[in-house]
Amino acid sequence: MNRQFGDLEASELYCPKCGRSQPVRERLLLILPTGEIHEYRCARCLTSLGQRTVTGPAIQGARPAPAAHPRPRPPAARPRPVRGLLG
Ligand SMILES: [Zn+2]
Repeated sequence: MNRQFGDLEASELYCPKCGRSQPVRERLLLILPTGEIHEYRCARCLTSLGQRTVTGPAIQGARPAPAAHPRPRPPAARPRPVRGLLG
């Protein structure tokens, strides 16, 4: 059974150069406004075995993680100088 590209990430693909299935390395090839193109290369001989286009909300890592907004510190409540004692 050959898996087709699309919904599943390929972890192993048939490499014609190696003559057998090999683990693949996924590499980000292009970033498009509509998605990303990932390329799969044989982990052994680095032959390009295929590409996968990722579109839509499946994109991960495209947006920087929202930074935690540090809250502005409330002004420290200072004790009022008591007048009258010193005056
Ligand atoms: Zn190979």
